[in-house]
Amino acid sequence: MSVPGIETLEVNGKKVLVRVDFNVPLDKKTGEITDTTRITASLPTLEDLLNKGASLILISHLGRPKGVRDESLSLAKVAEKLQTLLPSIKVHFCSESIGKSASEMSANLKRGEILLLENIRFYAQETSKEKPERIKFAKELTSMADAYVDDAFGACHRAHASIVECAELLPAAAGHLLKKEIQILQSLVTKPERPFVAIIGGAKVSSKIAVLENLIQKVDSILIGGAMAYTFLKSRAIDVGTSLVEKEQLSPAFQIIDKAGYYQKNFMLPEDHVIASEFSERAKIKKTSNKTIPPTFMGMDIGPKTIEKYEKVIKEAKTVLWNGPMGVFEMKPFAAGTMAMAKAMSKVKGTTVVGGGDSVAAVNLAGLGGKMTHISTGGGATLEFLEGKKLPGVEVLRQE
Ligand code: AMP
Repeated sequence: MSVPGIETLEVNGKKVLVRVDFNVPLDKKTGEITDTTRITASLPTLEDLLNKGASLILISHLGRPKGVRDESLSLAKVAEKLQTLLPSIKVHFCSESIGKSASEMSANLKRGEILLLENIRFYAQETSKEKPERIKFAKELTSMADAYVDDAFGACHRAHASIVECAELLPAAAGHLLKKEIQILQSLVTKPERPFVAIIGGAKVSSKIAVLENLIQKVDSILIGGAMAYTFLKSRAIDVGTSLVEKEQLSPAFQIIDKAGYYQKNFMLPEDHVIASEFSERAKIKKTSNKTIPPTFMGMDIGPKTIEKYEKVIKEAKTVLWNGPMGVFEMKPFAAGTMAMAKAMSKVKGTTVVGGGDSVAAVNLAGLGGKMTHISTGGGATLEFLEGKKLPGVEVLRQE
């Protein structure tokens, strides 16, 4: 699979619209950026384009503002961070994505300068299901530039205006990060060394269940953690107290466990937990001795028995893919499971791929980023790619 790279574009003296993925994790309390991996990962593309004589108009989403302005999800803080990472480059920020001030600021942008536009998802047209709506929005964005570069692998699984329609309206290419992601993940799909183990966790069980279903056929073992584990346990009539459970996912979860059995895969669920009386590190905290969680407690992390079992499976692996934390790792009392997975992965003699904003943050928190074969900047995009789905953002570039 090949997509055109930056070298196919004429960018000298031109304005290049770059779709980056600055969807960085934020501290839930302070709103501060907790991990800058996604920003630093975009630098090779930005620096290459600037060195080639371009000026850059950057677009990105941050979080899920659902088409309305939400100041807590403003990219202003990302602009500040980018400025500190590129001290010799002038980084401007515009509090709009389209409109009068965005047009004026982009028109005034000098060669070698960067303009970061406000969170693209403050505009409902970006994610509209109606293509004409997305085209209209993309026309406003592309009217400010001469060429388009997509370096937002993490958003390539979305048919959004800034990913698909912008690429259709301008000469388009993939940035260095996008090219690298495609190359590494492709080799994982086509010839993974076995045993191939997937560690899947996090909160978004609904968005991961479909992916899991397909992953079952590719991997040898799946280790489940995070909040999603409680929906799986509940589906097997195990009491999970006040843990996060997505009721509408109980039946799909039940079926996935069956399917894993049918394909004779090693599908593992937590066998003990770290539990809390409320969602807080100051709560009453205990460890369970088995799978069951008492009625007034919620599961916050996998327990020591589970950690040990998962570590054993990871130790034998030749390929490990990890997406989603094992617990509420942002709070210290519930970080042990996630940290243990990072450590176990760092010792694997084989290919280790970490995908997903929060798992990336966890690996970096453990200081083990450098020990992994590849840290993907995509969460959902990474998993969908590995599952064999066509990513709209990649397909549109291939058609060029
Ligand atoms: P995701 O974006 O789906 O990978 O989810 C990541 C989030 O899941 C992190 O912010 C974790 O704090 C959260 N998480 C992990 N385990 C739990 C849990 N047991 N209960 C609630 N949230 C959790």
